[in-house]
Amino acid sequence: MMSAEKKHMALAICTGCDIGNCIDADKLTDAVREAFDGISCISHKSLCSEAGLEELRKFTREKGVDRLGVAACSPRVKTAEFSMDGIYVDRINLREQLAWVMEPGEEDTQMCAEDQTRMVLAKLDTIKENTPYLPEQVYSDVLVVGGGIAGVSAALEGAAAGYRVHLVEKSDRLGGYAGRIYKTPYNEIDLSARTSEVMSHPGVEVHLETSIESISGEPGNFFVAIRNSDSATLKVGSVVTATGWKPYDPDKLSALGYASPRVKTLEEFEQSVQVEQPPDRVLFVLCAGSRDENHLSYCSSYCCGAALKQALYIREKNPGAEVYIVYRDIRTAGFQEEFYKLVQADDAIFMTKGVIKSVSDLGNEVEVVVGESLLDEQITLVADLVVLATGMVPNTTSDLKLQYRLGEGLPELEYEFSDSHFICFPYETRRTGVYAAGTVRAPMDMEMSQEDGAGAMMKAIQCIECVKRGEAVHPRAGDMSYPELYMERCTDCKRCTEECPFGSYDETDKGTPLPNPARCRRCGICVGSCPERIISFSDFSINSVSAMIKAVHVPDEFKEKPRVLVFVCENDAYPALDAAGVHRLRYSPFVRIIPVRCLGSVNKVWISDALSHGYDGILQIGCKPGDDYQCHFIHGSELTEQRGENLQETLETMMLEPERIQTRFVEITDHHEIQEIINDYVEELELIGPNPFKDM
Ligand code: SF4
Ligand code: SF4
Repeated sequence: MMSAEKKHMALAICTGCDIGNCIDADKLTDAVREAFDGISCISHKSLCSEAGLEELRKFTREKGVDRLGVAACSPRVKTAEFSMDGIYVDRINLREQLAWVMEPGEEDTQMCAEDQTRMVLAKLDTIKENTPYLPEQVYSDVLVVGGGIAGVSAALEGAAAGYRVHLVEKSDRLGGYAGRIYKTPYNEIDLSARTSEVMSHPGVEVHLETSIESISGEPGNFFVAIRNSDSATLKVGSVVTATGWKPYDPDKLSALGYASPRVKTLEEFEQSVQVEQPPDRVLFVLCAGSRDENHLSYCSSYCCGAALKQALYIREKNPGAEVYIVYRDIRTAGFQEEFYKLVQADDAIFMTKGVIKSVSDLGNEVEVVVGESLLDEQITLVADLVVLATGMVPNTTSDLKLQYRLGEGLPELEYEFSDSHFICFPYETRRTGVYAAGTVRAPMDMEMSQEDGAGAMMKAIQCIECVKRGEAVHPRAGDMSYPELYMERCTDCKRCTEECPFGSYDETDKGTPLPNPARCRRCGICVGSCPERIISFSDFSINSVSAMIKAVHVPDEFKEKPRVLVFVCENDAYPALDAAGVHRLRYSPFVRIIPVRCLGSVNKVWISDALSHGYDGILQIGCKPGDDYQCHFIHGSELTEQRGENLQETLETMMLEPERIQTRFVEITDHHEIQEIINDYVEELELIGPNPFKDM
């Protein structure tokens, strides 16, 4: 962190790791001294070594440095080494994104190093002192919604970690779906022991037959209005929602004969077997509506195991019974394989691979025709009862009654589950401080739900502690900056409130944004969306990026020296660029790279600034959008695509070719594509010719 008063800016150049062989560090120092009056510079042949760091610390102490540019390796490495108390440090990536990808000793490579260094120093010159957002009061209690396995597990783990938990369950008992199960032979969860433990735990307040009337506020300060016989308000710091699942609607499975009284679902059979003797011939249809594009395209992961378990119930209760299991694949992951083998060993349980062709109620029995069997024959089976292994659908989360302008529930994502990023951040939802656990998050069995409850609770606790320190949660964990709005110039256009993926802004009736900084994930999308350019972070603002753009020396002559501004998303695209460096994949020295929090944070004004400054083209590289998205900020990449249309208008107004601005999306592993993307784009630009504003 920086001290209140600006003191002194400095540059430290490392000449190790090929940097010194690639560029002339003395010339770089001269270029920087010319641009920044009074700046102090140092260079070292191995800046991150003990000796290098010692020299750097001495240098910063003696010069009274409060802002330091470190021209060395990528900011993704050696973070701890180059962190210094009281100094705002930014990194100039002269290793992965210059020395390892550009021709050594060339004039163009040297110019690139000088530009990239001036850019970061120009940014350092604009940043403001950061005052973290620290709410006066941060509540440490956690609300858990839903008393099934995941909710009970979350509550017990939270209480064990010393946090007070309010467990709200709308029914009159705990246990959820699992509490209605007859037997659980292949897992070791003692649900009744877990529910008794939670009921008697001094750190958990259980609210049965309780509904939520509203949840308002932000992480650290959520106000939860609940209603049972009385009304009350709970004050909590974060929320775990574990509202569970329901079976897929069997009425949609008429092709599998569900209209017949001789056809039941797994859930219906689980209940009936507790009170009725099972018949002599029972046939299970696995994947009933699952892994089927017309119904649920995913695997619900629990149903194979549940059907095998029910086959055993039948054999226990009616030893003369025969059971048929028709499957497409049997999926019994992990130790459940042993249970599968146990069921297979029963001579009266017949398993056959195939696809159901028809299910016909013949009046006193059901005829099931199975095709595409292992023997490639059509077979006909007859049973007294057919059980459909239907899949899992998450329960609605609208019961959370979130007082957010973007809706009362969690946004339902792919297949209606509410996890916001299955790949990188399980449990995170699009509402900061609200974590999803168990089957409302993803299909899973009881054991996984139990672990999931614990995992989500850890995230909920982490969130409270981050808010206490004024830090962001994932994916910018530890970031202490937050968006500040210069409201005098706000036109109530609602762009920020509508485009914030996390519902961070509420708004007045008039449409004026009301920020909730603790809900913010610091993506900067609102910086990109605001047409009045009044939203900024202390170290990421319209001014700081404009200063970077203008710090580049754009040569007048175009021939062989075009200039390309590249906005690179810090999440996946930047690491991919670094990996291109690690693989020594050469690309053009005409690029000037600006890392951004998200491609959605790019404000239109930076594009016009760059074009007016004489850049010949602008390339934006971000994470892949779409349903199987990689975008860490949900729809930043999609917004970039939408805003692209407006940008084309800007180009038209400036009488410039639309191809000058291009956007590409990559995955973190796409380092080969990065090389191609950059080189192809620069080639294309050379054909288009120079930006006419260059000479003005
Ligand atoms: S930075 Fe991102 S999360 Fe924060 S308010 Fe702006 S758009 Fe919302
Ligand atoms: S985008 Fe900017 S001008 Fe529009 S409502 Fe938000 S802060 Fe105000």
